[in-house]
Amino acid sequence: MSRSRREFLGLLGLGTAALLTGCVAAVSPPPPSLPAVPAPHPGPSRELRRGPVGDGRGIALTVDDGTCADCVAGYVDFARRSGVHLTFSPNGVLDGAWRPQARALAPLIAAGQVQMINHTWSHRQLTELPDGRIREELERNDAWVARLFGITTRPYCRPPFGAHDARVDAVAGSLGYTRSVQWSGSYGDSAEVTPEILMDRARTFLQPGVIMLGHANRPTVLGLLDEVLDLVRERRLEPVTLDEMFGTSRAAGA
Ligand SMILES: [Zn+2]
Repeated sequence: MSRSRREFLGLLGLGTAALLTGCVAAVSPPPPSLPAVPAPHPGPSRELRRGPVGDGRGIALTVDDGTCADCVAGYVDFARRSGVHLTFSPNGVLDGAWRPQARALAPLIAAGQVQMINHTWSHRQLTELPDGRIREELERNDAWVARLFGITTRPYCRPPFGAHDARVDAVAGSLGYTRSVQWSGSYGDSAEVTPEILMDRARTFLQPGVIMLGHANRPTVLGLLDEVLDLVRERRLEPVTLDEMFGTSRAAGA
């Protein structure tokens, strides 16, 4: 047997062994490239409750917290298989639920399908904290998101419990959080909710322009995500990230 043929057969053998053990499939693509995290653009903060009024079909599905690791995993899996655009508002204190999903989220984040906004590090009510602690809550959480997911949360801050006032807004604005994100529809799943009530709220609130509030805290929603998606398709709604809804970008952070 010629040397080259022997080498070829050897390679073939290696290839077969690799296929059998799954090694070939384990070769992962290069990590997607992300824009550099931009410097903050301080400015006055304004409140957002819904998308711009017009004839668009955009809706922003936002998912907060992440106290239930399986729920975070379920939402990430849903995003991956459906292609639906989502905005997550995670707390760094719940790192244990988010970190295992960082790899699966990387291509979705790189593609702009998934966005991360700032819901603070430890989910305290910001109106009850002194300025320095508000600053710390926002900066620590953004640094965690940047480390784990490679992007900034600016310019979007969703204050826990929706609680904000002029002082909180001023501190947030000085750090580049010039958009305070509230909501115009909610699944009501920050508390225990039945599947019937959750779907009832979905049918009520999933209308063009809604900023929909959901939580990755209780598994009820996981069994309903496909039903929610059917509703979205039936109504010809277009799920978009907040960047897409308001024309901002994580590359600019504004
Ligand atoms: Zn929350």
